[in-house]
Amino acid sequence: MKKRTAAAVFLLAACVLAFIPKTQAQAKEPVIVVIDPGHGGDQNRGGEVLPQYVEKNLTLQVAQSMKQTLEQFEGVQVYLTRINDQELSLEQRAQIAKACNADFLFSLHFNMSEEHNLYGTEVWTSAFGKYFSAGQTFGRLQLAEMSQYGLYAKGVKTRLNSRGTDYYGVIRASRALDLPCVIIEHCYMDHAIDSPQINTPQKLAAFGISDAIAVAKYFRLKSPALGLDYTGFQYPVISAPSGTAAPDTTPPENVVMTVNNADLATGKVDITLTASDPQSGLLYYSYTLDGGITWSTLYPCAGTNTIQFSITVPANTTPILQCRVYNGYDIKAESNIAIPGTFATR
Ligand SMILES: [Zn+2]
Repeated sequence: MKKRTAAAVFLLAACVLAFIPKTQAQAKEPVIVVIDPGHGGDQNRGGEVLPQYVEKNLTLQVAQSMKQTLEQFEGVQVYLTRINDQELSLEQRAQIAKACNADFLFSLHFNMSEEHNLYGTEVWTSAFGKYFSAGQTFGRLQLAEMSQYGLYAKGVKTRLNSRGTDYYGVIRASRALDLPCVIIEHCYMDHAIDSPQINTPQKLAAFGISDAIAVAKYFRLKSPALGLDYTGFQYPVISAPSGTAAPDTTPPENVVMTVNNADLATGKVDITLTASDPQSGLLYYSYTLDGGITWSTLYPCAGTNTIQFSITVPANTTPILQCRVYNGYDIKAESNIAIPGTFATR
């Protein structure tokens, strides 16, 4: 606790120093960005895929690269909530940012899923007013940056707790301090599609550069040093919701699987899967050949409600075919079951 307080005081002092030029007469105030390397300390290691990935270490590496890159832009001051392996509460992270007079708090994270089947980038933000607007607007820029690595864009989302306020503590605490905040879940440490993107220090540094570019675009910064000028950069500004931008809590609807063609000679089955999710769209689909005992990996729906794909049924099996679709909040729904039942003789 004592260590934590001392570190917080240090950071607060660093921010106070930053105020001095800001209070002087200046033509244009600098943008103040605070980067929060998620997790930290012995008790809060974040997600772990051992031996390679410990989330608290990855977030710090990305944050350092993000800071170094952003500092090469003009008109911006950048701070980290922690600069070493230090424990901080979620409230402290928001308080440090507020003490820095931050314009935005970016909390960096890496993801894992319970069934180790999800992959892609997602951004979380407040469900309320201007905080939602800022988070949604920035989040889309962030997803666009991450897509260059082939990472699947899972969306910019909100989550509420049982009290109807923001679920994630750093977002909730930031809003209470009148501070826009996003959580960037860069990718999944526990999925083979994503993890090759983070398996060297250079790749983590590249993520930090991409995070910095998203911020530079959002604040329309320029860097003669880097030869980048986003002062005229255009992007859609997402407006504030009239009420609470509530998350999607219901599964996809109207999930129908149709077997278009089943080739007994080759075992090839052509399937059309249709579904809809007006709230958060469709993210992934999967299928089973054994009536749900085992499921395929997840495939991207890639923005369509009508998915066509083919599978090959192994010889001498009687498939019991069924599909699943997952919406933007990873909530799944299952299709009808189809039993061609004619492959046993192949
Ligand atoms: Zn995390």
